[in-house]
Amino acid sequence: MIFNNVDFDTYFKHYPDANGYFGKYGGAYVSDELKTAMAEINEAYFTICKSAKFINELRRIRRDFQGRPTPITHLERLSNALGNVQLYVKREDLNHTGAHKLNHCMGEVLLAKFMGKKKVIAETGAGQHGVALATAAAYFGLECDIYMGTVDIAKQAPNVARMKILGANVVEVTHGLATLKEAVDAAFDAYTREYKDAIYCIGSVLGPHPFPMMVRDFQSVVGIEARAQFTEMTGELPDAVVACVGGGSNSMGMFAGFLNDPVDIYGVEPLGRGTALGDHAASLTYGTEGIMHGFNSIMLKDENGDPAPVYSVASGLDYPSSGPEHAFLHDLGRVKYDVINDEETIDAFYTLSRMEGIIPAIESAHAVAYGMKLAKTMGRGSVLMCLSGRGDKDMDYVIKEYGMR
Ligand SMILES: *Cc1c(COP(=O)(O)O)cnc(C)c1O
Repeated sequence: MIFNNVDFDTYFKHYPDANGYFGKYGGAYVSDELKTAMAEINEAYFTICKSAKFINELRRIRRDFQGRPTPITHLERLSNALGNVQLYVKREDLNHTGAHKLNHCMGEVLLAKFMGKKKVIAETGAGQHGVALATAAAYFGLECDIYMGTVDIAKQAPNVARMKILGANVVEVTHGLATLKEAVDAAFDAYTREYKDAIYCIGSVLGPHPFPMMVRDFQSVVGIEARAQFTEMTGELPDAVVACVGGGSNSMGMFAGFLNDPVDIYGVEPLGRGTALGDHAASLTYGTEGIMHGFNSIMLKDENGDPAPVYSVASGLDYPSSGPEHAFLHDLGRVKYDVINDEETIDAFYTLSRMEGIIPAIESAHAVAYGMKLAKTMGRGSVLMCLSGRGDKDMDYVIKEYGMR
C-alpha cells in the first residue's frame, strides 16, 4: 500500500534509515562516548536479528515465560450498550507482569547478555517498565538499576516493592518535578558513566538510534499476533485500530501489524486536565519539532525551548515527547493522533471494569475511552484497541482521587 508517497509494502526495510531516521525524525544526538556505545548496540542487534538461535530463544521465552500469544477479547456487552460497532481488545494485560513492556525488556536483556554486559539500567514512570526490566534481569541473572522520580515512587508503591523483591536497585530521583522526565535524565547520566559494563534499556520507542527501532521490532509481536488473531476470529480486518501513546511502544507495536492495511489507525494522547501547557502530555497534538534525550521528534517545550512540564492522570503517559516514528507517521497522516482527558479516562476505567470484568491500566483506559467514542460516531464496523496493561497498580489511586463510582 502506498500512502503519501511512502510504500508500506517495504516500509520496515527503509524506516528507519541506516542512521536511525524516520524522515527528519530520530537520529542519535549523544556525546561521542555514547555514540560508540550506540554503534556497539546497533551492531550487536543486527547480528542477533539474523541469528536463528536468538530468534528461537526469544520465541521460546515469549511462549513459556511470558504467556504469549495474549488473546483478543470481544467486548460484547460494551459494544451492545454503545450501538452496532464491535469493540475488541488485545490483552497485553495478560502478558507476564501485567503489561506490554516485558515484550521489549526480554529482547533488550537477551541482547545485553549476548553482548556480555553485567548490568541493565533504566528509568521508569508508572513503574511498569522498571518491573518488566527487573523481571527480565532476574530471569537472565543480570544486575539492575532502576531510576524513578520521588512523585512516582509515592504513587506506585506496589511496583516499587515488586522491583525490590525481584532484586533490582531502585534509585530515587528528587530533582525537578521528580517524575519520568527527570528519571530519564538521571538514568542517561548513569549510563554515560557505566556504559562499558552496562546497557541502557529504554522503556519505549524513544532515545537515540537504535532504540526506537529495536523497541518497535520487539513490540511488533503485539500487532502481528493481533492481526492474525483478529482475521481468524472475524474473517476480516478491523476498521480501526486504537492505542494509547506515551513514549509510544505499545502503540507502535500494535500499529506495526496494520500499517500496510486499509485500516484507520488512531494514537491516543493524554489531555490530562486541559489544553494549557503543563496540564497535559499530548506532545504530538500540541508540540513542535525539537531534540531531547538523544533524538529528534515532536515535543512540548517551555518558553526556553526546554522540555515542558507535563501532566496526566496516567504516570506511564506523562512524557513531553513521543518516539520519532510517531512524529513521522503523524506528519505523514498515516496515523491520526487525538486526545482523551482524565475524566473520560476514569469513566472508561470504570465502564470496562463493570461491563467486561477487565480492570484496565489508566494508560490503557485512554485507548478504551477513544474506542468508545469512535463506536458512537462510526455507526457500524469494528474497533480493535490495545489494552496495554492491567489496572491493579492504579486501583488505590483512582479510588482515592476520584472515589468509588
Ligand atoms: C508504560 C505504559 C504505557 C505507555 O508507554 P508506551 O511506550 O506509550 O506504550 C501504556 N500502558 C501501560 C500499561 C504502560 O505501563
